[in-house]
Amino acid sequence: MRRRPLGVAHCGSPSTLAGVSVQPGARRDEAEDGPRRRAVVDYALQRRARLADVYAGRASLHDVCDAHPYLLRAAKFHGQPSGVSCPVCRREQLTEVHYVYGDTLKTLSGQAKAPQELDDMARRLREFSVYVVEVCRSCSWNHLTTSFVIGRGSAAPTRRRRAGDGRVLEGES
Ligand SMILES: [Zn+2]
Repeated sequence: MRRRPLGVAHCGSPSTLAGVSVQPGARRDEAEDGPRRRAVVDYALQRRARLADVYAGRASLHDVCDAHPYLLRAAKFHGQPSGVSCPVCRREQLTEVHYVYGDTLKTLSGQAKAPQELDDMARRLREFSVYVVEVCRSCSWNHLTTSFVIGRGSAAPTRRRRAGDGRVLEGES
């Protein structure tokens, strides 16, 4: 899988974004009537590296389980269960929080939104960015997992890249 580096100016996660990678043109297939996600960036590699640091003792729990109170609050009110156990404490399922950014959002930029709200906004607004952060409400582990651009858009059609076997190349989780 070919990746190229991308700088991300801002996000809702305190995690470092150095070494972030992107798959150009990669996209997720949405439901027929659902808004299309563009410029999908998957942070699974960074997440794995971070967890490897924890398991190897190179990073302390104090370093990685540092969810901001606002993030924990957002998880409580706007989050959705990810179905994945916390990789650090394994005590509960991770919660995903979707943060929205963009000039079109005005004062809403930087807020956490429930997935249903995102779909509604994506139908009304031209374009905005979404950053998905996973957080454990038990131990406060948190990490940026995915970012994408969404909206009714005017963008040129996205180019699909497929693997040799026809799979659409996109972020695995
Ligand atoms: Zn945990």
